[in-house]
Amino acid sequence: MTLANSTRFLVWLVTCLVTTTAAAEWYSDTQSIMGTRVHAEIWQEDAAEGQRVLAEIMAEMRRVDETFSTFLDTSELSRLNRQAGKGWMQVSDELFDLLQKSRTVSDLTDGAFDITYASAGRYYDYRAGKRPDDETLRGALAAINYRYVELDAANNRVRFTHPDVYVDLGGIAKGHAVDRCAAILAREGITQGTISAGGDSRIIGDRRGRPWTVGIRDPRREDAMAVLLPLVDTAVSTSGDYERFFEEGGVRYHHILDPNTGDSARATRSVTILGADATFTDALSTSVFVLGPVEGLKLINRLPGVDAIVIDGDGVMRYSADLARLAH
Ligand code: ADP
Ligand code: MG
Repeated sequence: MTLANSTRFLVWLVTCLVTTTAAAEWYSDTQSIMGTRVHAEIWQEDAAEGQRVLAEIMAEMRRVDETFSTFLDTSELSRLNRQAGKGWMQVSDELFDLLQKSRTVSDLTDGAFDITYASAGRYYDYRAGKRPDDETLRGALAAINYRYVELDAANNRVRFTHPDVYVDLGGIAKGHAVDRCAAILAREGITQGTISAGGDSRIIGDRRGRPWTVGIRDPRREDAMAVLLPLVDTAVSTSGDYERFFEEGGVRYHHILDPNTGDSARATRSVTILGADATFTDALSTSVFVLGPVEGLKLINRLPGVDAIVIDGDGVMRYSADLARLAH
């Protein structure tokens, strides 16, 4: 036996040993992070490896939350909100990148996606049933405009050109976290799995020869599904008006705001976006929610590789052109 041959034989022998002794299995974990349910499920040969990768994913979710949370005074985003109104602030590559992606989606959606929505959004407390009075809202509206967030790419610097600007990345950060975790799985050589943070998911590969199933909730019935989607290798994000809301005088106040009014967008009940990466599908689900079914689906139909399912204000389900063709 030549050396090359013996090496090959050894590799073959080791492969046989591994495949006969290892019990490949699904490993999963669910935790409460970023104010939502974070879930990961992966197909792995080895139990210790499976647990190690799951722990790495949960740690990454926590790290992203600690960077972009507006509830933590110590987060980089909170620092930006304190300082950037006073002048240029140096930020991490990661924050700069997410601000740049937000800007791209703002341009694409004519400002329906606008992280400065939070100049008004910060005065809502959905759990406590609180909303801003007219005067506060009027003042806050003056500080909503994504163009007030100035990005200096040469120096990774950011400043706000209006003193009352307040930004929140809640419409894009979960998708970003999911994409970061999908990159971990790719690095670990895991080819079948799913990762989700609230309504934002990545489906990696299939589920042992079958598609994964992702349900879109009926927006008005807590335990009912409106539709089940069989999916392989996709990013999928859902935004709904049932996630965080309160009702007052028969009006639903929920967490997706129209940047033009500082009030909740009400032409839609839920939006699901399918695409290649979760950062983009997350931002687009929020965007299409604000744009409403007509303008929203027009936008999606212009974007290659992106599809949408919208449940409109009357509860009617509408599909983007490619999905509508499939459904018929
Ligand atoms: P969630 O998974 O939290 O329901 P969504 O993708 O539905 O997230 O986005 C809702 C979140 O996006 C809100 O909680 C808020 O942080 C943020 N947001 C609300 N309105 C806008 C807007 N017009 N542009 C950008 N972000 C927004
Ligand atoms: Mg979203």
